[in-house]
This record gives sequence, C-alpha cells and structure tokens, in this order.
Amino acid sequence: MKAEQVLTTLKQRFPNEPEYHQAVHEVLESIEEVYNQHPEFDKANLIERLCIPERIFSFRITWVDDKGNVQTNMGYRIQHSNAIGPYKGGIRFHSSVNQSILKFLAFEQTFKNALTTLPMGGGKGGSDFNPKGKSTAEIMRFCQAFVTELWRHIGPDTDVPAGDIGVGGREVGFMFGMYKKLAREFTGTFTGKGITFGGSLIRPEATGYGNVYFLLEMLKTRNIDIKGKKCLVSGSGNVAQYTCEKLIELGAIPVTLSDSNGYIYDPEGITKEKLEYVMELKELYRGRIKEYAEKYGCKYVEGGRPWGEKADIALPSATQNELNGDDAEMLIKNGIFAVSEGANMPSTPEAIEVFLKNKILYAPGKAANAGGVSVSGLEMTQNSERLGWSKEEVDSKLKWIMANIHENCVKYGKQSDNFVDYVKGANIAGFMKVAQAMMAQGII
Ligand code: GLU
Repeated sequence: MKAEQVLTTLKQRFPNEPEYHQAVHEVLESIEEVYNQHPEFDKANLIERLCIPERIFSFRITWVDDKGNVQTNMGYRIQHSNAIGPYKGGIRFHSSVNQSILKFLAFEQTFKNALTTLPMGGGKGGSDFNPKGKSTAEIMRFCQAFVTELWRHIGPDTDVPAGDIGVGGREVGFMFGMYKKLAREFTGTFTGKGITFGGSLIRPEATGYGNVYFLLEMLKTRNIDIKGKKCLVSGSGNVAQYTCEKLIELGAIPVTLSDSNGYIYDPEGITKEKLEYVMELKELYRGRIKEYAEKYGCKYVEGGRPWGEKADIALPSATQNELNGDDAEMLIKNGIFAVSEGANMPSTPEAIEVFLKNKILYAPGKAANAGGVSVSGLEMTQNSERLGWSKEEVDSKLKWIMANIHENCVKYGKQSDNFVDYVKGANIAGFMKVAQAMMAQGII
C-alpha cells in the first residue's frame, strides 16, 4: 500500500469530502509501514474496506417551529465499522454538519473505540439543525422527528448513539424517549442518558476528565508536575467545562475558554466558582462566553481563538480544525510543552507537523478524548446487567482505561530517540485491533 495512492483513489471516488480525506490521510500515513509488513492484509483489500463506511443512512427531517413554520433539515447516521462491537458514536447537531464531517468522525471513532479496550465499533450521526436560539419545545420536536427516522437503524446490539456537539443530556433524553416509544422496549440504545433512567455516573464528566488523565500520563514521562501550570482551554461546552474542573482540582490554572464568537482570557485563572458560573451560563441560560468577561472584568477577543496567549499547556476542546499551523508555531514560541486534544481533530495537519517536529507532548483526540466514549461503553455494560455503579467505580475504570490507552500509544509510537509519537501510536494500536478482527471474520 502506498498511502498517497490510496488517498488519491478515495478522493476520486468520494470527492468534496475534505474532512474525511484529512482523517483518512493521517491514519494511512501512520500505518503504512505496519500494513506493508502484513501481505495478508493487502490480499484481503483491508485498507479500502477499513476506510469506506459499511453503511450510510441519510434522511429528511421535518418539524414545526414555535411560529408554526414547517422546517426541514438533513439527518445522517454513518455506520462505519462493527468489526469489534456494535456501531457506537455520538450525534452532532450543528449547522456545519454534512456527510464529509460525519464520515471523518465515524472513521476516527472506529480507531478511538478500538483503543478503549471495550467492544465497540465506530459510528456517528447528526443533522445540520442549528440548536442556537431554539426553545426547549423546538429542540424536543426536532429530536423526536430525528428519531422517527433513525430508530429503525439502531438498537442495543446494533448501533448505540450518544451526544456530541449540540447534543447533551437534554437531547439524549428526548431522543431516548421517542426511541422507547417507537421500539416498544426499554434498552440501553442511547448512552449519556439521565441518571434516573439508566445513565452512568461520571458520563458528563468523562471526556474532560479523561483528557486530563491522559495528559497526566504524558507529563509523567517527563517528570512534569501539573500543579501551577497555565492551561489554554478552547470551547465552553461539556468537554471544556469538565477539563477545567479537573485541572482546577489538580492545582493547574485554566486561563481561557471560547465559543464560536470569541474567547476570554482570565490571567487570574478560572476558579471553581467562576466555572460554576460558566456551567450555569451554558447549560441553563444557553448564553455566550462573552458574558464571563463582562461579569469578571477580563479580556474578551471577538472572533479570536486563544492560541496566542502565554501558557504551558493547551487543551483544544471546541471543534475540528480550530488550531492551524500558524497557531501551532505561536504555541511553540510561547513555550507550550504539551497539547492534549479534547475535541475531535482540532489540529490541522500543518499544526500536527509543527508539534511533532518540536517533539512536544502531543496527544491526538482519538487517544486523549476517548474517555467519553469509554464511559459510554461502561454505561452499556451497566444497562446490560441492569445495575448502576458508584462514581468511584466508574472513575477508577476511566483512569485505568486512559492509562491503558497511553501505554498502547507508547508501545506503538516510541521512536528510536525515545520520543513518543502519539499520533502514530494511537493509529497503529487502533488499526491493529480492528484489522485483526476483520481478518478473522472473513471477507464480508
Ligand atoms: N461524541 C463522543 C466522541 O466523540 C462520545 C461518543 C459516545 O459516547 O458514543 O467520542
């Protein structure tokens, strides 16, 4: 296999899908050498079968807004691979959602889920519905309309959706309610559910906490203490919030947060109290991060991203391609020594190149943000055994999983000079697991 050649063919067959091409390119580049050591993989045309999703559903969603207008949106579910378990991955509601974005996310999810040690395949879904400014009643009607189409394709042993950007506990609750009604069964078909109806403790915290646990593992390899370290966090949703919570608990100092309008810089540090305000602002009032700057009198940069501020560590936790090559150069110039991704593919290929060239600690999302889907996997287990585990139990399992992912990245990513290429490590470790499962199951 020549990674470049495979990619050229994929680009011809599936044009106009830049995010999908970007995600595939990164993986193919990392695994090329290992793949070529296994001629049996090539004989089974494994690479094409692994890159092309097994199934894609796309459908029109019709719903009625509060003014009585009839609205339409597009909905999708990508079932990328069920080689190691039922399709698993979140649902994203955002105006930018299209097939390319969901294909990249489902592809990434397949490798991420393989890294978690749990039996989950990869999938992703969503809609170009924009939840901003919508009333709770509109959100509910939209979720119900979405599930009216989706429900026949999912199930506890088939495909288990969860949340992602624009989809939190409220939306999962509405979708689960409609699913339950249509399927006439109470099963763990969604994860990220409310605690009173089968949700797992620590699921809301899991992606952010998991990212910080992964960061701690990386810091350990260089004997660096997280205490007192200034951290640039982007985003202000679920991942960013719980990243900050864990950082504060460990004595680190998050100094930034952002949303699609701009970022805030609080040189004093975002404290526990200030974070509580952010959580209320976002979850209850669904406000903008600008209001933080107004309340606490700190800097707000309209339209900007936080990568130019001075700090020690960066945790991009907003969305794909939010950190480019120039941003990465700026981070390095400012002395950043670790980047751990809470979002999916937040760094562009140029940015990743800068991180690797400078040999900083750099963890790609598919390793560092796997904590969210890991606790989703634990929620599936709890639902199957009809039991709920304690906070402590889930948290200790999450810590163990993140340490295990780190260990696997080191195993496959350690270079001759001892530098750990976590991109390579994560991609090879994830790939090998899925590839071996596919080989064992024959040509299907
Ligand atoms: N959307 C999250 C992710 O990107 C979580 C998926 C899940 O819990 O299924 O991994």
